[in-house]
Amino acid sequence: MERPIIGIAANEVEDAGAKLYHLPISYTPAGYVKAVQEVGGLPFLLPIGTPADAKAYMQRIDKLILAGGQNVAPDLYGEKPLVAEAALASERDQFELALIYEALVQKKPIFAVCRGMQLANVALGGSLYQDVSQLSDLQIAHMQVPIAREIPTHHIRTEKASVLRNIYGEQAKVNSFHYQAVKKLAPDLKATAFSEDGIIEGVENRSSKFTFLGVQWHPDFAYEHLEQELAIFRYVVKDL
Ligand code: MN
Repeated sequence: MERPIIGIAANEVEDAGAKLYHLPISYTPAGYVKAVQEVGGLPFLLPIGTPADAKAYMQRIDKLILAGGQNVAPDLYGEKPLVAEAALASERDQFELALIYEALVQKKPIFAVCRGMQLANVALGGSLYQDVSQLSDLQIAHMQVPIAREIPTHHIRTEKASVLRNIYGEQAKVNSFHYQAVKKLAPDLKATAFSEDGIIEGVENRSSKFTFLGVQWHPDFAYEHLEQELAIFRYVVKDL
């Protein structure tokens, strides 16, 4: 079988620091690239570009990965920003929204991590909590800094007969690096994993109109340390 071509929507940084001569850089965290390679996929990075290019990009890949990163702009789901937010990326939002819509048109599966899952939920008509730490009934920290990224810090419970149940079992422990979270779930998505405080941690497509798998945690941070986090990349490359 030909190796599936996995498009990974990339990010940008204005100043990559002294080691990289303070250059502006297009990049994706290497965990996505290396995990896809390790399970037999051929990763292609899709740099942020004009939404009009989304169709041509999607025609050249088999599946799309939406990576983590900046918070999704609240105006995309009809809210004003709660706090002045530096790490927003409007060009990235617009390009990735176009990739999502084009993936639906071309019937190409999407695997979405953290911000990617949040953006897809917004693209499909859902909304987000801007900062889960402000929810009074929350008992667990969803931003685990300074605990190392590969260390799982909170439990999830998966729903029966879901992709995530097959990979993670009924209960698992995952890492957590998010301020935002799904509030209103998009009508075509179903929640298939929850944290113990009720935050939606995993979503899948509800019907067969399209194929979608999203997780709120970061398998890319932990695929070398936890078999479950490599297993989800294996599922994405081979079976999604
Ligand atoms: Mn979490």
